Amino acid sequence: MRDRHPDSPVAEFGLYFHVPLCQAKCEYCDFVSWPVEALGPGKRGRIVRALEREIDLAVARHKVLRGRPLDTIYFGGGTPSLLQPAEVERLVRRALKVFEPRGFERSSWDDPSERGSDAQAADARTAGDSARTVEITLECNPTSARGPRIEEYARAGVNRISLGVQSFDAGVLRALGRTHSPDEARHAIHSIHAGGFPTWGLDLIFGAPGSSVESWGRDLDEAVAHGPPHISVYGLTLHKGTRLHERHARGEIDLPDEETQREMFLAARRRLCDAGWHHYEISNYARPGHHSRHNSLYWNGGEYLGIGVGAHSHLAGRRYANPEGLDEYLEATEGARHPGVEEPAPSLRSRRAERIMLALRQCDGADPHRLSRDLGCDFVSEYARETGRLSESGLLSVSTHNLRLTEEGLLLSDTVFEEFF
Ligand code: SF4
Repeated sequence: MRDRHPDSPVAEFGLYFHVPLCQAKCEYCDFVSWPVEALGPGKRGRIVRALEREIDLAVARHKVLRGRPLDTIYFGGGTPSLLQPAEVERLVRRALKVFEPRGFERSSWDDPSERGSDAQAADARTAGDSARTVEITLECNPTSARGPRIEEYARAGVNRISLGVQSFDAGVLRALGRTHSPDEARHAIHSIHAGGFPTWGLDLIFGAPGSSVESWGRDLDEAVAHGPPHISVYGLTLHKGTRLHERHARGEIDLPDEETQREMFLAARRRLCDAGWHHYEISNYARPGHHSRHNSLYWNGGEYLGIGVGAHSHLAGRRYANPEGLDEYLEATEGARHPGVEEPAPSLRSRRAERIMLALRQCDGADPHRLSRDLGCDFVSEYARETGRLSESGLLSVSTHNLRLTEEGLLLSDTVFEEFF
């Protein structure tokens, strides 16, 4: 099985920073993150220093990273907007120095001393340059993405904001355990507009406790009214070990039933597509040219380096995982040891299934010839039984040049993907 698209001289490559800090733990969250106050003094600074140090440790460990063309940088979490703009700038600067930003004209970005007397003009210029080449996304929480701070992120090189709104309904936000109010989300959106980012997006969650098709319709209407170039729409998942899961198990909360959730998914698809967004991935909608390049890189089988506690990497056909324990992660990086552990290689069948799954998540579908090249087999004959069954059940649309999930297939995507494993 091939891990690089044969048409790419060097596969697309993205850098992911995992920032494990949050203001409070949301009721539904199973991400590797901790409330910043609960970590105790000193941890925050150690985490930021470890992120910077790990870039160098990774490059020293993986030869394939040396001078590697870089396409995207993504700050995820956690709540990356709890990083100061200066901290984000330091990490961006380090990444752009260590890797070769694809198509990026090196200029005053390289060395602050070359920025001249008008540092602000130089910053604006470098941010503009990177916007044309490397996509640099920062996930933001409405409470920490406001006013001058958001403009400072733009000067730090960030050219794409992903705002975790989740809902504009105060009751739904409370049920999810979010720390922000609808008005704080609105202020953050105003600040993002004023910040002049070339692109940005917001996230919404459907299926939350206390939500209904009507309240979800209002969320969609308000999201459309704010006009973000990108909208992510996720169905709430109950993860074991979260407070929401426990409360649900104790019968303390009611969730919308399956039929209602189905209606909510379809309402989003109708509302957003009618208003001009393209449904390009199961959970993502974008205006033309505003898809997430970083996430598309995952779906297209590109390579990535994950930096931070619990982060994952995919390099030269191998997969690595950083420990999820914060102390273990910090001890490794502070001891100048790269924390990543190579994961056991999955079976060929599983690797192929994963590639097929990622390709089919994209609503425009997959080219069977490209799949054959990526999988190293004749996809059409190898998977004739699976695609035949799915096509007969109305979940997959199959033609000579394209293979894509039908609307029913989008709703039952897990069932579709299981066929290939
Ligand atoms: S802000 Fe995001 S990462 Fe942090 S607890 Fe909430 S859902 Fe989890």
